[in-house]
Amino acid sequence: MSRKSISLYIHIPFCKSKCYYCDFNSFVCRDEDVPAYFNLLRRELLLYKELLKGYTISTVFIGGGTPSLVDANNIYQIVFFLREIFEVDKDAEITIESNPGTLTLEKLEIYVACGINRLSIGLQAIQEDLLRKMGRIHSLEEFSHSYSLALKAGFKNINVDVIFGIPGQRLDDWKNTIEYMLKCEPTHLSCYSLKIEENSVFGEKHKNGKLIPVDDDLDRQMYWYAINKLKEKGYRHYEISNFAMQNYSCRHNLVYWKCEEYIGLGTGAHSFFNNKRYSNVINIRNYSDSIGKGIIPKENQILIAEQDRISEFIILGLRLIDGVAMEEFERKFDKCILDIYEKEITSLIKKNLLQISDKTIKLTSTGLDLANQVFVEFI
Ligand code: SF4
Repeated sequence: MSRKSISLYIHIPFCKSKCYYCDFNSFVCRDEDVPAYFNLLRRELLLYKELLKGYTISTVFIGGGTPSLVDANNIYQIVFFLREIFEVDKDAEITIESNPGTLTLEKLEIYVACGINRLSIGLQAIQEDLLRKMGRIHSLEEFSHSYSLALKAGFKNINVDVIFGIPGQRLDDWKNTIEYMLKCEPTHLSCYSLKIEENSVFGEKHKNGKLIPVDDDLDRQMYWYAINKLKEKGYRHYEISNFAMQNYSCRHNLVYWKCEEYIGLGTGAHSFFNNKRYSNVINIRNYSDSIGKGIIPKENQILIAEQDRISEFIILGLRLIDGVAMEEFERKFDKCILDIYEKEITSLIKKNLLQISDKTIKLTSTGLDLANQVFVEFI
């Protein structure tokens, strides 16, 4: 019997300080807490040993938080450990997230030595005033230094995260950030539109009328500037917010968008396995108690009924610029997508939000701007 593929996400919830726009599961930690957390991660991995016996790990994503903040030997050991207990594909994509100002050549070389082959760096903007406004811990110079160290250490696949729609950001600021990126030539670029999250410093300021979001027109101008400029320079726009050079799409994130299986390890990490979705407990003490008892620290487990799987498959699939192939849908669900959603699809095509070409359903350019209006029709 052929082995099935699965992906692993490993959450490192530690950050040097909290960025003002962030509502992720991350917090400032004491150095002495780190080894204990990695010890728990190892024990959690062991809890999956039997369950994942017939599986090959195809991608691993070490995210956070700021995984590059911790002593790199912790990272080395966890990657080494998972190779010991699971079968990891020899071509597995193994990514680590990082922030400028936390990377050294030594750390980067340790990552390479344990087989990490993709580095993601959070830059967000190149203007020092915007970086300060967002509570980022680094300067542009530190990014530039980290980026050259990564190349020196041997990383050939580097993603950079940048943000547009930051309050106070001008169109020219964004254009300069994109221009700067084009000079760096990372293999992958994620361009996110800033969302003001309720549970963040920005959210609080916004509530008190002290933060004015950028208007929608400017946000869209920035988005389309990036799409056009990056395409012109050979990047493939393959997902709403993501761009890659040929063959450098993020294989791990494609697993999420294609509704394939993954296991999340660490506090608050999400999993999708055997048609069930669940998340790990966020509270570190509860996480530790559960692992101590030999129980996977999951909560909110739900069995995804077929209709919900169909709905997720379409919504996540439409995030991809290639869209949802009707034949793939039929193979997966043994149903024709048009039999289920003919009314919705026809109406979205009339509104110029969706198109069908080559038996594939995808967002139009207008649909890219109004994607949420499309998604809601498939819920
Ligand atoms: S570095 Fe990332 S995870 Fe940490 S606070 Fe900033 S945005 Fe959040």
